[in-house]
Amino acid sequence: METRSITLPACAAVLLAGIGCTLLAAFQPQLLVLWIGLFVAAALVTFFLVRRGLRAQALGVARYVTELSALPVKAPIADSAFGPVLNAAAQNNREVQGRQNILQESRHQLETLLEGMQDAVLGVDAAGRVQWSNGPMRRLMNRDTAGGSVRHGHALVHTFRDPALLAAVQTTLDQHTPCECRSEYVLPGRIFQVNASPLPGGGAVVVLHDRTEAEEMERTQRDFVANVSHELRTPLTSIVGYVETVIDHETLSGPAREFLDTVLKNASRMHRLTEDLLLLARVEQAENPLDLQPVEAETLLRDALRTVSGSSYAETARFEIAGTTTRNVLADENAIMQVLGNLLENAVKYSSGRPDPPHVVVGVTEHASTGMVEFRVQDFGPGIPSEHLPRIFERFYRVEKARSRATGGTGLGLSIARHLVEQHGGRIWVESSLGEGSTFLFTLPVTD
Ligand code: ADP
Repeated sequence: METRSITLPACAAVLLAGIGCTLLAAFQPQLLVLWIGLFVAAALVTFFLVRRGLRAQALGVARYVTELSALPVKAPIADSAFGPVLNAAAQNNREVQGRQNILQESRHQLETLLEGMQDAVLGVDAAGRVQWSNGPMRRLMNRDTAGGSVRHGHALVHTFRDPALLAAVQTTLDQHTPCECRSEYVLPGRIFQVNASPLPGGGAVVVLHDRTEAEEMERTQRDFVANVSHELRTPLTSIVGYVETVIDHETLSGPAREFLDTVLKNASRMHRLTEDLLLLARVEQAENPLDLQPVEAETLLRDALRTVSGSSYAETARFEIAGTTTRNVLADENAIMQVLGNLLENAVKYSSGRPDPPHVVVGVTEHASTGMVEFRVQDFGPGIPSEHLPRIFERFYRVEKARSRATGGTGLGLSIARHLVEQHGGRIWVESSLGEGSTFLFTLPVTD
């Protein structure tokens, strides 16, 4: 404002002096020198005034810019030629400040969340150097009797020595995919579930979940079940054996035979249950190492079909082979017979009556891209409702409890099958549509 008030009259004086010089040059040339002198003087005064005004403005802007960089800014300059620009900058500044506050708030919430977690968490950058860690992680590593601690800014190997954990994190960093593993070497005597997840801008978050107590409890449960099953096995074998002998006796009365029939049926069921429980305990603890040999996939399928089609429950069933391969798979023959036997038995049992006789289609297909052979057992029974599909391979899980019990099922067959297939490095799953039937599929690795 002040600059404008000085500059305008000065400019007007210079302009008038200029016009005067021109007119005098035309009408009174003798006063020309005086007028030129006046013109030069006005121009000089204007120059110095404008310069002083601009300097004052520049100082104002400089002060304001300094305030802008030191957030938050005070009042914007309103009475300046640069007012609109500076006001816009101030507005922009307020928005940046607002966004920064929100970011700080989110960061604070995230830090509180990470600190409040029971799991130990740390972050690594794309080069695998530790960038940050939460309190549980720091406390965990300080408990290390070897005196280890979380080494921020250093490669992960300076914090953890476990090869499985380091490999999982490296896979996540290289492939930008989540990776998990079980680690027994983070701390002596502790077992951790390790989950590494990629970060959007590179790097990864590593979460360590302590599973020591949970695994201990699961082991105690398994041991208990295995011990009880083992203790029951001998008396049950003897009950079944004696009842089978007595039931054939000619002198037996009708009601007595009926009672013994019931005893035999239930004792046989308990016997099957104890056998399945013992088998499950063995496969879960990987007690029996697999005897892996190259074996033709088709041979496995045909052998299993031969065994099942000779059983009484499959007398009327119609089996069809659709698709085979001569490729060898790396498999323990007995284990895969157990898996195929269970799937074929289920296909017959759970589709009996629909269609009548039960129709079962089996096949093997090679998937060269994955290096796997896929085994398939399809039935055309009632199918399995979709809500049961994710849980069907769990221990004792049955879709229709009454029907499973009536067919003599223990609810353990699929659970055993899953463990056996996974021990081979394969995968087992089911596809099913209500009213159309179910297809159970599993894969085994191809071998030359
Ligand atoms: P079970 O001894 O009861 O047959 P499994 O573990 O073999 O135990 O099967 C678990 C449950 O899955 C069964 O009880 C049954 O409800 C369901 N199931 C398995 N196979 C089929 C199938 N082919 N069709 C329909 N339901 C099935």
